Amino acid sequence: MRVIVGGGTGFVGRALTQLLRSRGHEVTAVSRHPGKDRITWDELSRLGLPPCEGAVNLAGENVLNPLRRWSESFRQEVVASRVETTKTLAKAIAEAEHPPRSWVLVTGVGYYRPSHTTKYTENSPGGDFDFFSRLVTRWEAAAQVPDQATRQVVVRSGVVLGRDGGAIAQMLWPFRLGLGGPIGSGLQPFPWIHVMDLAGIIAHALEHEGVSGILNGVAPSAVTTSNKDFAQALGSALRRPAVLPLPGFVVSAVFGSERSIMLLEGQRVVPERTLESSYHFAFPDLPSALRDILT
Ligand code: NDP
Repeated sequence: MRVIVGGGTGFVGRALTQLLRSRGHEVTAVSRHPGKDRITWDELSRLGLPPCEGAVNLAGENVLNPLRRWSESFRQEVVASRVETTKTLAKAIAEAEHPPRSWVLVTGVGYYRPSHTTKYTENSPGGDFDFFSRLVTRWEAAAQVPDQATRQVVVRSGVVLGRDGGAIAQMLWPFRLGLGGPIGSGLQPFPWIHVMDLAGIIAHALEHEGVSGILNGVAPSAVTTSNKDFAQALGSALRRPAVLPLPGFVVSAVFGSERSIMLLEGQRVVPERTLESSYHFAFPDLPSALRDILT
């Protein structure tokens, strides 16, 4: 299968590209920058969708970039990099003479209202209570294509764990120095997924005709993982103490109060439809995921 991957140059995109190529598929990234095995967003808009059987969008400005102030212009960049790229791909799919058979968008579990107690499946309500939940609603709406020929899948991802980017890359040094620990109270849920499982769910969605609609992209055991559990598991995988909490007010000072919600609060998410779709997680529990990532 030929697959077009918006944001295919990023952390998840590189893992997905490697997995798809290992299964014999051809991958072309859509990027802001020209290069080998890539087209640019501008070329996609001007020339239309290249021949392909699958499309994916993973583009998005990194929300938790600590070097960027949470200003109005950065907020707009966060929204536009997701909603506009998704619209561009959806329009190209809708206008294609031979539309792809499957179209997969990755959004986030920020759709569901943070809670210590409520468990969310793909059928739970959300998407209307804060900046991030409303962003997910707009992002998913932007992916709609009228053509029934294209099967549509949205994967609502949790925090993606992997060696080459994402949350672990940002946390590794403090933890290695024995300066790691829970964030805030540490009691907030920590909805996580191994990057190879997120790539695996996307590939499963591209390849299987019966898969459509929303899939939660979290590990099955993530529903009971707290931020403190994650800090302890990361500390023990690195054989370092992980007891120094990062106070909530420091997180708010660095990231701003609206954005710090992503770190100080969390959702208990169940991958119900993902499991029902017969996806088999390679890393269902945190110790095995961290062992794989850190060795
Ligand atoms: P990355 O931060 O690695 O970014 C992916 C790609 O997005 C980049 O390689 C870049 O491609 C493109 N991009 C970045 N900024 C912009 C911009 N301003 N305008 C247009 N394109 C831009 O993301 P991940 O791989 O970590 O995540 C993939 C998707 O999954 C994202 O949409 C993210 O929101 C979502 N997600 C990720 C989670 C995580 O923990 N990582 C958790 C939940 C959801 P290029 O430079 O080639 O243009």
